[in-house]
Amino acid sequence: MFGKDNFVVDLPSAEEQGVRFSREIRVAEKVSCYDLEYILGDPVTVSGVLSRREARIIMALSLKGAVCTFCTRCLDPIRLAFDEDFLYLFSASQEDDGSSEREESDPECLVVEVPSLGQTLDISEQVWESLVLSLPQNPKCSDECRGLCPFCGKKLGAEPCTCEASDREARPGAFSVLKDILRDEN
Ligand SMILES: [Zn+2]
Ligand SMILES: [Zn+2]
Repeated sequence: MFGKDNFVVDLPSAEEQGVRFSREIRVAEKVSCYDLEYILGDPVTVSGVLSRREARIIMALSLKGAVCTFCTRCLDPIRLAFDEDFLYLFSASQEDDGSSEREESDPECLVVEVPSLGQTLDISEQVWESLVLSLPQNPKCSDECRGLCPFCGKKLGAEPCTCEASDREARPGAFSVLKDILRDEN
């Protein structure tokens, strides 16, 4: 997932609250999702705060980095920064007696059931999940991007496109072609 290293964090004891961690990860391979390809050339900073509450661990996770992808309108290569926060709750199903039933009913909180909570926790899956959720789903080079001319393929607004107005009128529309076919048949 992140090369050979898995993302394992030390868990706080019951007395400790708000234990912080921060690490940089490198994602060597391209990430394909949302029908696009994303390249994470620079390291991504993964940081978090862990707190233990009985048989649960609350983790506030932050991912910060930049991604190279393509504008969905004009297909230009673009680089976009991201900085996203996530909230996880790890619940040890065997140790949780249910006495503190979901008191933190934060809808944004992602609940993960784990068999037990020891001194360390492998959060590779959650880091990966958060990374995918951090990727821009509909990237654009700018809000003003008008995409490509459907006739000549030039980027609209950036390059002069002479076919834009004239060709659309000069070209016979689908209906006039159909009219000709029907006329020939009669
Ligand atoms: Zn664009
Ligand atoms: Zn054009």
